[in-house]
Amino acid sequence: MSSSLAAAAAAGASGASANNNGGGGSNTFSPTKPSSADTAAAGIQVVVRLRPMNERELQKNTLPVVSASTENRDVTVIRNNASQTLRNVFRYDNVFTAFSDQKEVFDATLGPVIEDVLSGYESTVLAYGQTGTGKTYTMEGKIDNQDEWGVIPRSAEDIFQRLSHKNYVEWSVYASYLEIYNEDLTDLLIDDSVNAPPSLKIVEDRGDEKRRGKGVMVFGLSEEEVRSTEDVLQLMERAQQRRKTGETKMNKSSSRSHCLFTLCVHAKLRVEDGGLLDTTGKLHMVDLAGSEC
Ligand code: ADP
Ligand code: MG
Repeated sequence: MSSSLAAAAAAGASGASANNNGGGGSNTFSPTKPSSADTAAAGIQVVVRLRPMNERELQKNTLPVVSASTENRDVTVIRNNASQTLRNVFRYDNVFTAFSDQKEVFDATLGPVIEDVLSGYESTVLAYGQTGTGKTYTMEGKIDNQDEWGVIPRSAEDIFQRLSHKNYVEWSVYASYLEIYNEDLTDLLIDDSVNAPPSLKIVEDRGDEKRRGKGVMVFGLSEEEVRSTEDVLQLMERAQQRRKTGETKMNKSSSRSHCLFTLCVHAKLRVEDGGLLDTTGKLHMVDLAGSEC
């Protein structure tokens, strides 16, 4: 299994004002973390993205309490107390600053993972962070502005572009969109004002001696075929609408629910010796609930 984990962190613009008294000594340490060789072997990457300050923070002259270095792949958190300034340095597999754009984030995180998915692996990307730190911006972005597309539409575009190669003699892609709020599961692709909402259940198919199980899955979740990036954008728009209605109906806040967008890719590839290789890979893209919950 190959997986990639993106953490969207508030850091630089968290709204906490730094009291820059300039006094005292400074203290620097690096937390112990597995070496990047270890994380690479495990197929997991942890990256941090800082968002730019918003209008409110700029108006209040909020001072950044975090700085990031893409080159060193580290983030420095500065904290002041009465007598000293503490600097904690955290290193990650990759660091994106407030100046990093959506393409840069996609290319460095999901880009290599898409190849794995087309080779038949199941991969996951998770956005973790406090509400307002840029998780949804990183995952979905702004659907109506291609420059600001997040990793979901960019992954779809990359998958369809690769599948258009003549060596793919047959392919199909199916999408599903699940929202989890407490114990409630909602299929974001089904309009329950037209049809009765489907009953969804998390089940585990463990298989048996003769058959390999499919693992954890959601029984009843719909899958819709998508043939282009445009199809995926339309599904995302529909799901956003659904989420909004759900929020007002059930008085729930989007920041409290997890959203899992999955693309399942079946492909038949002509290989060098003329034979055909069948693959099924999956890409799960998860916009987690705000970490403050
Ligand atoms: P979250 O999903 O973590 O609660 P959002 O993705 O909704 O946070 O981001 C909060 C606000 O900040 C949104 O208006 C979003 O457009 C904006 N934003 C977040 N990250 C960025 C970024 N890297 N560049 C520009 N705007 C951003
Ligand atoms: Mg969000």
